[in-house]
Amino acid sequence: MFSWLKRRGGAPEPVDAGLWESATLDYLFLRGISPDEHERLRALSGQFLADKRFYGTHDLEVTPFMAVQVAAQASILVLELGLDWYEGWTDVIVYPGQFAPEREIVDDAGVVHQTRDPMAGEAWLGGPVILSWEDVALAADANGRVAGYNVVIHEFAHKLDMRSGDANGCPPLHREMSVAHWKAAFAPAYDDFCQRVDAADSAAEADGGAALEALPIDPYAAESPAEFFAVGSEAFFETPERLSAAYPAVYRQFAGFFRQDPLARLARGG
Ligand SMILES: [Zn+2]
Repeated sequence: MFSWLKRRGGAPEPVDAGLWESATLDYLFLRGISPDEHERLRALSGQFLADKRFYGTHDLEVTPFMAVQVAAQASILVLELGLDWYEGWTDVIVYPGQFAPEREIVDDAGVVHQTRDPMAGEAWLGGPVILSWEDVALAADANGRVAGYNVVIHEFAHKLDMRSGDANGCPPLHREMSVAHWKAAFAPAYDDFCQRVDAADSAAEADGGAALEALPIDPYAAESPAEFFAVGSEAFFETPERLSAAYPAVYRQFAGFFRQDPLARLARGG
């Protein structure tokens, strides 16, 4: 178990500057971030580490460096919202690699299937966030990563979505936003994306997967509106130029919800 030390009787310390620098050097979502935003993210990450408990499984030791990497990525989502959005649960469980929990799935014919699909992460309603360290580390690997694939942002986006119950692709919206506008942006984009994934799947044998590669976000987003929101959040922070070009109305709703504009950051100096 890893637990950050709280300064006795006071507010949590920001993450140590040297540790912060080395742990967050290479993240795509930090491109163009202002010095003020960067400092606030470091302070928020310190608070996150004081609030949450980390557990490694299979003898994995969650080091301060690893915890800071998780904290930084989780905190970017709530930089302008506050950590209250992650209240009501405390545990972050880290597996060394992908994990395959046994699940029962009932199909349309009522037949129960046992499945063991490998997973990179999972977020439980009112419970822990579970992460594969191999996948977490990938986002910081400038050579190995796929831009727009970020398991921490993905799972913590589900956590925000779950603030209103089961993940459904619509988190609780701010007063200045509207559910009607949200749906008007997301529903047609989701339908369009599902069609594009179907077409790309059908073409995959002929084009060697080129159409799948060319999709603006990860095809996993076609699984459900909840996954569209979580995968869309990864793209919003890591590849905003692709998301906004494909689905500008969705980008604007994300910007309103997160109260951030990663596209403007990129233009300023990414
Ligand atoms: Zn998901």
